[in-house]
Amino acid sequence: MSTRRPLALHWKILIGFALGVIIGIAIDRFWTPATWASLGVNDPQSFMAPKSGEAFATGKGAEANQDASFVARSVRFVSNANTFIGQLFFQSLRFIAVPVVFCSLIVGVASLGDIKRLGRIGVKTLAYFAITGAVAITLGLVIANVAEPGKRISPEKRAELLIEYESRVAESVTRTLDVPSIWQQLISMIPANPFQALATAQMLQVIFFSIAIGLGLTMITRAKAEPVLQFFDTLTDVIVKLVGIVMHLAPYAVFCLVTQALVNMGTDMLVGLVYYVLTVVLGLGLVLAVIYPLLLRTMAGVGYRRFFRAMSPAMLTAFSSSSSSATLPVTIACASKRLGVSERITSFVCPLGATVNMDGTAMYQGIAAMFIAQMYVGDLSIAQQLTIVLTALLASIGTPGIPGAGVVMLVIVLESVGIPTQGIAIILGVDRLLDMLRTVVNVAGDSTAAAIVAKSEGELESEAEVARRLADDPDVG
Ligand code: ASP
Repeated sequence: MSTRRPLALHWKILIGFALGVIIGIAIDRFWTPATWASLGVNDPQSFMAPKSGEAFATGKGAEANQDASFVARSVRFVSNANTFIGQLFFQSLRFIAVPVVFCSLIVGVASLGDIKRLGRIGVKTLAYFAITGAVAITLGLVIANVAEPGKRISPEKRAELLIEYESRVAESVTRTLDVPSIWQQLISMIPANPFQALATAQMLQVIFFSIAIGLGLTMITRAKAEPVLQFFDTLTDVIVKLVGIVMHLAPYAVFCLVTQALVNMGTDMLVGLVYYVLTVVLGLGLVLAVIYPLLLRTMAGVGYRRFFRAMSPAMLTAFSSSSSSATLPVTIACASKRLGVSERITSFVCPLGATVNMDGTAMYQGIAAMFIAQMYVGDLSIAQQLTIVLTALLASIGTPGIPGAGVVMLVIVLESVGIPTQGIAIILGVDRLLDMLRTVVNVAGDSTAAAIVAKSEGELESEAEVARRLADDPDVG
């Protein structure tokens, strides 16, 4: 017992995260155009931009930067390496996401045994998703009504932001207008070609396909189903093992992704929008620190320390990647291996949740709509606010788990109550930061759901059981 245990993964990631925040903010604050000039770089943007073929051919930016010193070139190298490591991690997770859903869901559904049981778990899960989503939005609206962030922004700042981001809003509006109706969306869950669904990572279609195969396997004789089940079961184990390996990169990747995001985003844009940002942060913080722990304690008998210790790698990955879909393999590994949710419940609830359950996004869309309304049309009536609850819930369900999607779908919420969509321009500058935060809540919400559903089915391990298992499985520990 006297041998020193290596630092647990979540601590390593947390250290990477903290260093990323400190260094990202320091670079943003202290690295100025004058610093570049002292290193012989007069056009930092073209100096740092990845060189396209055209830029090489035309020598674009070369003249301004021909005096770039060795230090400047080294900085560029470090920056490129930083981007590379972040992307390597992100891409490795994306590479795993579809196979993990496909294989684990087939095995999960088949092992549920019958369609009745699947139906019961499905109804519970969806009801939980809808109720927590509605609670999150309502809470967001209450906070926005009390804090009134929209009345605290100066007209000058508003005009300045409007001009800066106007053209990008037009893009979001046209993109959102292409969104199919709810009926079309339901039909399109059935893939015309399941292999295409797998190849293009259409998550809802992949889920449908996997459930169908899993159910089909329960309807044929056990002897015939067994080899196929064995195959997918083994493949699931292999994939979860791969996640464990990829996670060794997480502390470094989280550092790289967070520094990058902070440097690209800058902290200047917070000025003038600080009330809005604080309102969203307060709302998300309440969901994460009060609502989920309460639900976990009362409905799953899980204390918040156990939950956060188990799920923190997934939550930190969500923060740095801003994508519930890319985080999904980590969510699945953490929920099943570290939190103790059975594999079949994890494989059903987590992929579904990553696609349709977005409490963080739903709350954010509610607060953002109120903020823009307070600036342009004043207070909203109760009926209008109820409309926001409903449309934000639907919009969050339709929001794909990728970076920046929530703000695009916000258009639907604004249009439902006649709030001018150009108001989105005002909040676009701070969206990256809020996206990182709401994705953490989205992922925490999915795993909370998994723990609660598992408990109700008698499929949640006790803390002691998890600890015993983890002692033999260092990869995810
Ligand atoms: N980035 C979020 C997610 O992946 C979606 C959003 O933009 O709200 O969960």
